[in-house]
Amino acid sequence: MKVSGILAGALAGAVLLAGCGTTYVLPEIDGASASRAQSMFAEAQQVARPAPKSRNAALQRYRRVVARVGPVGEALCLRETAGLSGFDCHVDIGIDTEMNERNAYFTYGDHARKRNPMIRVTLPMIHDVQNDHELAFILGHEYGHLIARHAQKKEQQAVAGALILGILSAAAAADNPYADPNMVSDNVELGYALGHQAFSQDYELESDTLGTLIARSAGYDPVIGACYFARGEAAHVQDQRLSFWGTHPPDEQRLATVIAVDRQIETAGGIGRKASH
Ligand SMILES: [Zn+2]
Repeated sequence: MKVSGILAGALAGAVLLAGCGTTYVLPEIDGASASRAQSMFAEAQQVARPAPKSRNAALQRYRRVVARVGPVGEALCLRETAGLSGFDCHVDIGIDTEMNERNAYFTYGDHARKRNPMIRVTLPMIHDVQNDHELAFILGHEYGHLIARHAQKKEQQAVAGALILGILSAAAAADNPYADPNMVSDNVELGYALGHQAFSQDYELESDTLGTLIARSAGYDPVIGACYFARGEAAHVQDQRLSFWGTHPPDEQRLATVIAVDRQIETAGGIGRKASH
């Protein structure tokens, strides 16, 4: 069997087995939202990155925004996960003082049991945000990873990918007496990695969708907040941490998603949930 065929089969199988993908409906990007995103993005990119705030002012902003966004994120989490027993919505929000780059991420203190959810924001990011709306949107986005259970889904996808690629390559090896003895275990690892990565971009957009709702509900303007994307940063992939920048650099699509969701909340009153989840 050709490797490309195995990969395609593994991915399709992982999707079916794990029942993953987004829980919430991602917005249709209408023409008005797309063109507004394009011009806001271009405009924000032309503005030079202003000087970072003083440490004191930055920390004051951080405390002020956490105090408003935290309760809203927790309330939404409790409402959205009410049917799941033992789901931990109590997030420990804190500052990562070690990481030297602009970033924020969601992770768990107890990965195995998915308990003690944590949001961490780095000092360079706290210094770099230009207004409260930006920090509110960033925190809302990280709550989105918790509420939409991205870490759980990625694990399920990884296991399904490993299983399917393992079965397919074991079958291929059984037919071929000259097969590389490491092929099956190599492909199990590959299947795990491919499964883990599946839907990554959709999950970032889903977190942006939930982040828009949270920032808005906490009294901030998520569209102003999402302009933070326009100042750009390289993508980050971190083991077990869901980075603010995701697996691809930010682009107009993320800003357009926020604009479309914001408009949808205004006109339709909320965001949509898929029937099957
Ligand atoms: Zn993210």
